[in-house]
Amino acid sequence: MTQPLAIDGGAPVRSTLLPYARHWVDEADINAATSVLRGDWLTTGPEVNAFEEAVAARVGAKHAVALNSGTAALHAAAFVAGIKPGDDVIVPALTFAATANAVLYCGGRPVFADIVEDTGHIEPGALERLVTPQTRAIIPVDYAGQPADLDAVNAFADSHGLVVIEDAAHALGATYCGKPVGAWASLTTFSTHPVKTIATGEGGLVATDNAEYAERLRAFRNHGIAADLHCRAERGDWFYEMDFLGYNYRIPDVLCALGRSQLNKLDGFLARRRAIAAQYDAAFAGLPCMEPLVQFNDRESACHLYVVRLNLDRLRCDRKTMFRALRAEGIGVNVHYIPVYWHPHYQRLGYPKGLCPKTEAFYERILTLPLWPGMSEQDTCDVIEAVYKVSEAYAR
Ligand SMILES: *Cc1c(COP(=O)(O)O)cnc(C)c1O
Repeated sequence: MTQPLAIDGGAPVRSTLLPYARHWVDEADINAATSVLRGDWLTTGPEVNAFEEAVAARVGAKHAVALNSGTAALHAAAFVAGIKPGDDVIVPALTFAATANAVLYCGGRPVFADIVEDTGHIEPGALERLVTPQTRAIIPVDYAGQPADLDAVNAFADSHGLVVIEDAAHALGATYCGKPVGAWASLTTFSTHPVKTIATGEGGLVATDNAEYAERLRAFRNHGIAADLHCRAERGDWFYEMDFLGYNYRIPDVLCALGRSQLNKLDGFLARRRAIAAQYDAAFAGLPCMEPLVQFNDRESACHLYVVRLNLDRLRCDRKTMFRALRAEGIGVNVHYIPVYWHPHYQRLGYPKGLCPKTEAFYERILTLPLWPGMSEQDTCDVIEAVYKVSEAYAR
């Protein structure tokens, strides 16, 4: 006999909602931040460089530039890649809006690519027919923390002279063929929003091997003002020049101190995320109504999201009902993502519904289960129990 579901008035598996993601801040992080608060620098100071150097070393890039959000990092990357009005940029339809918004900020046109349903990654085989003479860049997204098909994307980009901007907001600490994410694309962007792998509140980074890009990224985050010491020496110490239209995308020192302290825990975070994901994989292997994303042996995922695809033909309900039933059980499920061009702003720009059928079908059947390093053994068991309870009640 199955227990009555919480959505039908039964007792929930949990009395408090377990969030789908949460940061982990410990005493070492607090000490790192408070020592900056006691010091001389609240915004740009020595911690910015120190954080950038630590991240660059970790992700295998020559340079990392820190900004005040992952979105600012994408905007800056698109800018230094030369995206301007009249340019097309290929982006997957399955991503957070920021990926495509960065193209719009630069006056470019996002061209939405469909995905591979097993992984949620941009589909390399479908790229060829999206290329126009105006195509200048491609932004693969490392969906859920697993690197996209970077070899195929790079080969495609090389053959068409495109810049690759990898949106690795989900994938700090992931590897592809043994090399870290950050060492594959011309420009790789990260986010340090609290739901991501390491947290600074708001924050983001761009990693690159290209010194010219790095210099322009630094100017871009500071109004387009270059740190040109030569010109100061000649014209006076007060002198600076705004070379192009940049923004104030600076990240405060206090957040970089937090970020550097968080980075020390990255391996521990990743290990814990991967262990929980493996627990889910094992627990749900016997459930015919859902399947996890496919993970490839040549990539280590950062396990940012645990996404399941519902087999709707094995259920007597749709995704919305599963979502509501799990929420009622106290499990903070989520959905990543609504196809970007379904948003009203993109609809008004004229993108038709039905543009990327695989993304749309994928969207109708996905749920994100809670996954974060601070989850307890009991939390994980609650998720598994609730998924079984709800799946069995709606099984066909
Ligand atoms: C979180 C995220 C971003 C934006 O990062 P913010 O730090 O929130 O601005 C961009 N792309 C993807 C895929 C994301 O998940």
